[in-house]
Amino acid sequence: MITVPVGLGDRSYDVLVGAGARHRLLDVLPAGARRAAIVTQPDLPVTVDPGIEHQTFLIDQGEDAKNLETVEQLCRQFSRWGLTRTDVVVAVGGGVVTDAAGFAAAVYHRGVPVIHVATSLLAQVDAAIGGKTGVNLPEGKNLVGAFWQPAAVLCDTETLETLPPREYRSGLGEIAKYHFLGAEDLADCNLDEKVARCVALKAAVVAEDEREGGKRALLNYGHTLAHALETANEYDLRHGEAVAIGLVYAANLAHALGRIDAARVDDHRHVLASYDLPMDLPPGSDADALVRLMLRDKKATDGLAFVLDGSSGVEVVNDVTERKAADVLRSMGAS
Ligand code: NAD
Repeated sequence: MITVPVGLGDRSYDVLVGAGARHRLLDVLPAGARRAAIVTQPDLPVTVDPGIEHQTFLIDQGEDAKNLETVEQLCRQFSRWGLTRTDVVVAVGGGVVTDAAGFAAAVYHRGVPVIHVATSLLAQVDAAIGGKTGVNLPEGKNLVGAFWQPAAVLCDTETLETLPPREYRSGLGEIAKYHFLGAEDLADCNLDEKVARCVALKAAVVAEDEREGGKRALLNYGHTLAHALETANEYDLRHGEAVAIGLVYAANLAHALGRIDAARVDDHRHVLASYDLPMDLPPGSDADALVRLMLRDKKATDGLAFVLDGSSGVEVVNDVTERKAADVLRSMGAS
């Protein structure tokens, strides 16, 4: 088992990574917790035993279930069951469960401890780490939420054996991103080490910038186009697949701006190919429509904003023109 500490002062916690990590739940329960509200999804083939009185609360599958109604239902069920502020919520699932249950934990009784048992690769390397919780509104993704650090995170890599292949690949898209955020040598690691290295990298960024005042935005590498592709909602893309295409675009854009050379663009393609991730824009992509969507990115306070690679690593770049952004999309086959 690999332990990765997340250093946040009195809110520090450990992330345990490895096969069977879910069986360590009892060890990481907050002292004094008498009851555990387990939040998970129907049909998820992962069970946990917190070793104290517990009840299971189910939320629906899919991004659509990540909404305020789900949070209200959870809080009402917690209340009827008698969950108190000294008890604990245990989220067991992928990012949909950890985001929604984490947010319910953040707001129920103005905050009860939460432990994430991350069961998808994407949740293990990203969603369950760092304390961002939240739900979607009809107006957009993740528009309502809170920073609420978990008391511990268990990344049980054994649970990934039942993860559908496409979901697994989606997690690989986020892992690919970390290759360009300082974890260049990930390629030679086994799965547990890989997950742990990604967690450590995210933990280091979060420890420095918990509330995304600066450095945390770098974790959005590849995400500006990815979010636009997802928001366009016309393409059958999982999040990590969209991130993979977004990484190629970010590399091409950085190259077009003279920030990186062609060999560095090839590095990106090489990493993505090694994970069998998509690199091409979906057929029918419309450059102007995608640029309009990218202007709505959370980083974009004044015009387009991208996280781009360069001689001193990745950084947020604010001076990319709409025309340049569209030209690079067209160079990748958009109309
Ligand atoms: P998901 O939670 O929908 O999980 C994907 C599917 O895999 C679901 O059907 C789920 O039930 C199933 N599943 C999960 N674990 C399984 C297992 N071990 N065996 C079999 N099936 C399993 O999707 P996701 O990709 O894990 O997470 C996506 C969500 O994460 C998005 O809502 C995104 O906004 C959020 N996210 C949050 C953060 C953050 O920092 N909070 C970061 C990245 C993504």
